[in-house]
Amino acid sequence: MNNDIEEILFDQQQIHEAAVRLGQRITEDYAGQKPLVLSVLKGAYLWTADLIREIDLYVDLEFIKISSYHGGVTSSNEIQLVTDVQSDVKDRDVLILEDIVDTGQSLQFLKDLLKDRGAHSVQVATFLDKKEGRKIEIDADYVGFDVRNEFVVGYGLDYADLYRNLPYVGILKKDIYS
Ligand code: 5GP
Ligand code: MG
Repeated sequence: MNNDIEEILFDQQQIHEAAVRLGQRITEDYAGQKPLVLSVLKGAYLWTADLIREIDLYVDLEFIKISSYHGGVTSSNEIQLVTDVQSDVKDRDVLILEDIVDTGQSLQFLKDLLKDRGAHSVQVATFLDKKEGRKIEIDADYVGFDVRNEFVVGYGLDYADLYRNLPYVGILKKDIYS
């Protein structure tokens, strides 16, 4: 698996530091509140596991599954809701946890859905932010790392459902998918 990686971008130590940094900010910003942490499957599950342990607040944890990629390396413009959230988001302060924001379409879809359902507030903590990929003007409130416009895998992020278990994030060699 490691041989398929062109370049390691963020190792375990750097990722841990990002979780600590954002966890502290979220703890301060949401002081006195009980946010509903909404983890976007499958990509954000490791980020969720690490980040919520750095948040010193009562939180509810929920999952939602959407799909945008259909197995390739570029976003399709069509977002599908695959598995819906199990609890009512009405009047809740929802904190979406994403693996990466690229075009922004997934995030827009989720924010619209939660707002339509009456969430009191919706914020986003993304592990990675690929700002160059944006097609929609939308930003995350908390960003672990900015990444350049390359296809990355590891730490939850996949190519064809593989590489999610790499403990670091790296750029996938182009010959793997071309
Ligand atoms: P968006 O809707 O912002 O274009 O895409 C967001 C989703 O696309 C992410 O949640 C992620 O699943 C996928 N994605 C975008 N860029 C990458 C990337 O570089 N690597 C991987 N593995 N997935 C990505
Ligand atoms: Mg995703």
